[in-house]
Parts: sequence; structure tokens; C-alpha cells
Amino acid sequence: MGYKYIFGPVPSRRLGISLGIDLIPFKTCTLNCVYCECGVTNNLTLLRKEYVPTIDVINELKDYLENNQIPDYVTFSGSGEPTLHSGIGDIVKFIKSNYPNVKLALLTNGTLLNKVKVKEEVIECDVVLPSLDAATKEDFIKINRPHGRLDIDQIIHGLTDFKKEFKGKMLLEIFFAEGINTDDENIFALRKAIKKIKPDEVQLNSLDRPPAEDYVKLVPMDELYKIKDKLNLKNVYIIKKFQNRKDIRAYRDDIENTIIETIRRRPLTLEDLSQVLGLHINELNKYLDVLEHEGRIESIIGERGVFIKERK
Ligand code: SF4
Repeated sequence: MGYKYIFGPVPSRRLGISLGIDLIPFKTCTLNCVYCECGVTNNLTLLRKEYVPTIDVINELKDYLENNQIPDYVTFSGSGEPTLHSGIGDIVKFIKSNYPNVKLALLTNGTLLNKVKVKEEVIECDVVLPSLDAATKEDFIKINRPHGRLDIDQIIHGLTDFKKEFKGKMLLEIFFAEGINTDDENIFALRKAIKKIKPDEVQLNSLDRPPAEDYVKLVPMDELYKIKDKLNLKNVYIIKKFQNRKDIRAYRDDIENTIIETIRRRPLTLEDLSQVLGLHINELNKYLDVLEHEGRIESIIGERGVFIKERK
């Protein structure tokens, strides 16, 4: 069976071997983050609906889980916000009632968790990884360019309420972009928000892949450590920037070789490359990350955005 909505398994820094589920069309999101590695959001929306048929996703999951080794996690992720899909609760229920040994993770921007319905639908996940890059209105707008009806205080409130009821693990991710959300006002507001939300862990991160906007700059490691010191909380960690491929289970050399051969002919955008290779963008990015750190590829800005080319 060929899969349309599930991808991988993908080697993940935080989740081990993760089978991805993408429920949302490319770049349909409640935010338009300046650093998004999938590019600019083309459908900025708060509309929850059945973007792809729930039953088709369930059938793909069933086929995969019946015929393959169980991955460490089945993860709602992709190139948009998964909680926008109105069938996410049915998919969680399907997994939990038929495959109780399968662990479910949710990668979310956290903007809809303040809705009671959304909270109820995803509360049975084992791990929830929400992001929260700003706790001041100004920086929220600068870094996340949210839908006009989103309010950062309500989002923080939603995360706090969710955590109170949630029995799994919450790993909060904060993405920093130099000079955009690195001001002290935001860092101290984030500290206050974290103390309120009480996540199990907070993970600090900066750029891995080329961002949606070319003015977005990486926060160097030493700066991230200074931010960690300012946050001054015991469960804050800095995400390890790069894993040696030998440390990544499920890393496939054949995929790596195909990527190099494909871009050797001509540079391609992330979206083009994903289509040509039939690899999900999130999966592709894992390989590009390794290849870029090894100096074998480079990203260049072209008319249609960021192009990936072989480094000669
Ligand atoms: S980084 Fe995530 S939340 Fe932000 S625009 Fe991209 S998909 Fe949406």
C-alpha cells in the first residue's frame, strides 16, 4: 500500500524512530513563523475541518502497524498545524483502542489547545511538544506572525490548563531568532509563562534549516546558554544541534545518495525535492541537516525561495 498521509519512520532527535502523520495540506497553519523551515504559510487560518479524509488516514495507519515493526512513536507532525484537523480525536481514539502499546506524540504550535474540544481530542497522547517562542504580544507578532484572532495570553492560559489535566509528558520548545525574540523583556515573560505552564521540560532551539524569511539569523550556542541562564529554571535544555549519522537509527544511505544525485543535476527547492523523491518534507529535512553539516550541500536563495544544491 502506498501512503499519502503517513511518512517515515523518521529518525527524530527527541522521539527516536517516529512514524509521521501529516493531516494538513502544505503550509496550512494558525501561524506564519518567520523561521518556518517549510516556507511561508499560504493558508493562515483558524478553521478546523476534515482537511484530508480521516478514514483514509486510519486505514493507512492500520496497514502500516499490521505489517511493520512498531516505531518508538507515531507522531502528528507535518508542514502545518495538526490540531486544525477536526478528525484528530478519532485518530487518537483509533490508535489508543486498537494499539494500546503504540505511543502517540503531538507536535503542535499550541495555539488551539485552549479550545476545550481540541484539548479533549488530544489529551490521550503520550507526549505533547508545543512551541512557545514569545510571551509578549510584540514578539509573538514579530516571530510567529499569528492569525489576527490569536492572543498570546489566551494561548499561555490554554497550555497551563492543558498541562493540569494531561497525564503524559509535555516538552515545551522555544525557538529563538537573533534580535527578534531574544530581548530580555521576552525572556523574562517566557520565564513567567513557563512557571505557570509547568512543562516537564523546556527545550531551547535555533535555526537548523533555511528559514521562511532570509533576515532570520541563528542564535549562536553561547547566546543560547546566556538565555538559559537568564531563564534560570532547572528543567531547561538546549537542543543538541547535530547528530552524527551513526547515532541516528534508521538513517538510510540509499536516501542520502538519491538526494545528492537528484540535486547534482539541478538545484531544487525543498518542496520540489520532496515531490521528486516522494519524501515528506520533515523526513527530507533530517537528511539535509546531516548533509549540510557535512558540507556536502548548500542552500542558495533563488526566485522561488531557498534552493538546495550540491557543494562542489
Ligand atoms: S513553524 Fe510550525 S507553527 Fe510555525 S508556521 Fe511553520 S508549521 Fe506553522
